[in-house]
Amino acid sequence: MIVEQVAASRPLPPVLEFPVRRLIEGASDRLRILLTTAAAGDVAPSAPSGALARARVTPGRWHMTRQAHGASVLCAQQAADGSSGDGLVAATVAGTPSAGVLAMFAADCALIGLASPEGVIGVAHCGWRGLEAGIVEEVAAAMRSLGASDLAAVRGPCIGPECYEFGTGGLGRLVERYGPSLASKTRSGSAALDLRAGVREAARRAGVSRLVEVAACTSCDPGWYSYRARRDTARFALAVTDAP
Ligand SMILES: [Zn+2]
Repeated sequence: MIVEQVAASRPLPPVLEFPVRRLIEGASDRLRILLTTAAAGDVAPSAPSGALARARVTPGRWHMTRQAHGASVLCAQQAADGSSGDGLVAATVAGTPSAGVLAMFAADCALIGLASPEGVIGVAHCGWRGLEAGIVEEVAAAMRSLGASDLAAVRGPCIGPECYEFGTGGLGRLVERYGPSLASKTRSGSAALDLRAGVREAARRAGVSRLVEVAACTSCDPGWYSYRARRDTARFALAVTDAP
């Protein structure tokens, strides 16, 4: 797996755009992975002006779930809005109507957007519970069942280990499952979870061939939302779409 770290330019724009064709050979020009920042405002499903904020990010039908820190994956075209799930997938087909915008929301958790040359797209919401439940691998498996071969992924900013003190019991389970790279230390030397390392390992096991990691800590950097550091109730989004 090729891993590439990217830093967003400053000042942060409301939306960072990753054209999928630059990540994986043979992908359609229509596929884009979009990452919102705090400059886009609160785009969450529960936000009072969320619909307006989301429409500014990209028009089109947004598919959104009730995120539950689990490993349920839904097909965007079949799932009712507000169904419980932490993964969404869809098969996009050139020359047919858009599959819409597959989106997940976070304020510290990792969000991962995936795409394949066949036009199969997916998105995952992954905190420590979702990681342990296997959400990254489940989304990849659901994409393969829709015809995906090769997979490229973008992981949005999440809380960094220096800010993520973590109980040793849960950390031990995660290390047992995904390896010693997940065990880290906070700035003050307490046991910490490296969620980024966990997502990287899960993506590798899921057969992702190229992973782009957005290098920022949501807790250190107010350019994104953090529940842990600032008790932000707002959420940023990572979305994958074939909409123009
Ligand atoms: Zn930090």
